[in-house]
Amino acid sequence: MSKRIVLASGNRGKLREFNALLGGIDIEVVPQSDYGVPEADETGQTFIENALLKARQASRHTDLPALADDSGLEVDVLNGAPGIYSARFAGKGASDEQNLVKLLADLEGLPEDQRSARFQCLLVYLRHELDPTPLICQGTWEGRILTAPRGINGFGYDPVFYVPSHGCSSAELPAEVKNALSHRGQALRALLAALSRH
Ligand code: IMP
Repeated sequence: MSKRIVLASGNRGKLREFNALLGGIDIEVVPQSDYGVPEADETGQTFIENALLKARQASRHTDLPALADDSGLEVDVLNGAPGIYSARFAGKGASDEQNLVKLLADLEGLPEDQRSARFQCLLVYLRHELDPTPLICQGTWEGRILTAPRGINGFGYDPVFYVPSHGCSSAELPAEVKNALSHRGQALRALLAALSRH
């Protein structure tokens, strides 16, 4: 029988990604909504704190090992903003489009060498609620912010995230190329390796 892990997210896309990867090592990932787990308050100041809060809450409510991720965009000239506030940069409930428009406005007029940025993804695996040594995997993807959106793939800030190695925005990359390069892809592969050793 496969081992069951609860995912501290309601995002179906993430659930599919995790199951595709972890199914190979006989792990079944189930969404926390199957157990009626309420969304955790993301009160941390860092990606890792928020991922831990989410995983701990899911494990506490289900008595299962739990997996959580937290991700976002860091822009150097903005001191790391939008960071943990990436999903709500333009305000609570803001759309991807509104967040992106605010980012372009905040960087207006800045030359290329002041537009460096990176995506970060933190993944946390807790064996149980009080696990004192969670597995923590991080992926980082370096790039810079364009002056106007390009491309239609992906989501969030992809249309304004320029990928120097490929000479295009991350919204111009096919999904499999993005997965091979991205912060989330890197963190997921590190998690797979850690869980395989586990
Ligand atoms: P969360 O990990 O679902 O909390 O995502 C946080 C936010 O970071 C998203 O809503 C996006 O705005 C941004 N973000 C995270 N990963 C990506 C990505 O791969 N492309 C574009 N935006 C991203």
